[in-house]
Amino acid sequence: MSILVIAETRNGELKKASLSAVTCARILAEKTGLNYNILTFEPSDKTKEELSQLGGEKLFVAKGEHLKNYTAENYAIAVSEVAKKIDAKYILATATTFGKDLLPRLVVKIPNSAMVSEVIEVIDGETFKRLMYAGDIIATLKIKSEKKVLSVRGTAFDKAGKVDKKSEIVEEEIKESYPRKRFIELEETKSERPELTEASIVVSVGRGIKDPENIKIAEELADVLGAAIGASRAVVDAGWLPNDFQVGQTGKTVAPQLYIAIGISGAIQHVAGMKDSKVIVAINKDSEAPIFQIADIGLVADLFQAVPELTQKLKKLKQESAG
Ligand SMILES: Cc1cc2nc3c(=O)[nH]c(=O)nc-3n(C[C@H](O)[C@H](O)[C@H](O)COP(=O)(O)OP(=O)(O)OC[C@H]3O[C@@H](n4cnc5c(N)ncnc54)[C@H](O)[C@@H]3O)c2cc1C
Repeated sequence: MSILVIAETRNGELKKASLSAVTCARILAEKTGLNYNILTFEPSDKTKEELSQLGGEKLFVAKGEHLKNYTAENYAIAVSEVAKKIDAKYILATATTFGKDLLPRLVVKIPNSAMVSEVIEVIDGETFKRLMYAGDIIATLKIKSEKKVLSVRGTAFDKAGKVDKKSEIVEEEIKESYPRKRFIELEETKSERPELTEASIVVSVGRGIKDPENIKIAEELADVLGAAIGASRAVVDAGWLPNDFQVGQTGKTVAPQLYIAIGISGAIQHVAGMKDSKVIVAINKDSEAPIFQIADIGLVADLFQAVPELTQKLKKLKQESAG
């Protein structure tokens, strides 16, 4: 019996969010006495090196022409094969878009298994705490099934660091593929800015921005800070930014060092995706807006004045410190 952590990659690079699942696996390993292993797909050499230094017993690299691009069906087959091989009692991944898509498909392939989503704490080998209802409720769940599939809330666990021990690297050729679906093409938003879930600063815009043309006000601030752009669902639903910018219950979960919410009211569904940010700054003209209840720094102001002013001041500070 063992533990298997799925590490996500994008264009060969490790998604740092996966390191939270490794930390959760370490806690599980301590509580159960089991070893943990890591499984990944299409890693670059650097990613392979990085993953082999995380204390896993083995690092599995799943190989196959059909695994070069992600489809949940093919990846679920590959994970279940490796899990069977090492008799994995626990299979974990961080609850990113990838983890949320893959794990429910995986759990139906593992005999005698059950799943807990958004785990925030491991009580013991059977009992877990998870968030429910946009983080309003913490539920404690006990899974009696022999095998357990867990999606891990990234912001609830620190990112695992390197250890001295190196994992044995095992290349695992996966022959079986899902016959009824085939990957053809991936169209992704190209951006020079950092990825939303990996960024240490996020500038998020809400409906208060009023017009997609005005988003450049937030983008200018983001560029001075080296930040990613996020958005509320209102902005995404209006078609002002693509879906993958959405932060919240039905969007991405982020926990940057600094989150700047511009013209966002702070609905519970938005807050669910960013409340673990280290420092929250809110700019809103309505002093009663709920975002101020969770903000560390609140500015009651018209964003069309305050944001460009802030950007100019930061630019000036940057120039002064460079000169
Ligand atoms: C099942 C479900 C899931 C959902 N999932 C999500 C989710 O994942 N993420 C998400 O964000 N929402 C989600 N929502 C929607 C959520 O309930 C809110 O409707 C949404 O977050 C509101 O977005 P907003 O704050 O941009 O807009 P509003 O609530 O309209 O707020 C706009 C804010 O801008 C301020 N403002 C206006 N003009 C200015 C100005 N000139 N200067 C400064 N401030 C100004 C206003 O005072 C107001 O507070 C979900 C809802 C449901 C029912």
